[in-house]
Amino acid sequence: MGCTANDLVTALKAAAATIEEHRVELIQLDRVIGDGDHGENMDRGFKAVLTALDANTPDTPAAVLKLVATTLISKVGGAAGPLYGTAFLRASTAVKDRAELEPADLTEALTAALGGIVARGKAEPGDKTMVDALDPAVRAAKGDTATELLAAAAAAAETGADATVPLVARKGRASYLGERSAGHMDPGARSTALLLRAFAEVAAR
Ligand code: ADP
Ligand code: MG
Ligand code: MG
Repeated sequence: MGCTANDLVTALKAAAATIEEHRVELIQLDRVIGDGDHGENMDRGFKAVLTALDANTPDTPAAVLKLVATTLISKVGGAAGPLYGTAFLRASTAVKDRAELEPADLTEALTAALGGIVARGKAEPGDKTMVDALDPAVRAAKGDTATELLAAAAAAAETGADATVPLVARKGRASYLGERSAGHMDPGARSTALLLRAFAEVAAR
């Protein structure tokens, strides 16, 4: 049994709850090496996603992902909105018109999401961005079930986010700090890990 549009909506509700729960943490991370708005940006964006999903009932996974994308792009300013928006848009295109996503489709969607972020932001692994969480997650996203696959992806994203601490930022606002960006976790890498953990927890239910 694959992941339906309804399952995706459940996962997005869990993601929104996690972002709300970690709003202050993300603000604090961004205050140190950015402008302190990442938690606010993400919380506003995911709350808008919930409102959009309540008002519309997309009946395919692709339509759900597209609604998330357009909402994040229109409601979230800063770097993260367009980057996450592009990620969800590419994921939407990747899953085509499938009614249910099988594990292989999830891997494709995650791969496409990473491709979108890289196409838009031009960050490479090691630049201290969300790519440092998503890139290892995509490489770890294997398994016979969605539960297994997403658990592996979430764990890899968490390790990747932790590994941004010593890095010097080469993209985004944190790069303005140069060497002084070292010693702090990248907020976008942290939010990527939080989103994947929320998806993994829903898949494990
Ligand atoms: P802003 O920096 O405009 O205030 P946010 O604070 O919401 O936007 O998001 C900051 C996060 O965006 C960073 O922590 C980083 O992970 C991510 N980011 C910034 N620029 C890029 C980029 N070019 N490629 C990938 N991710 C990026
Ligand atoms: Mg910011
Ligand atoms: Mg900002």
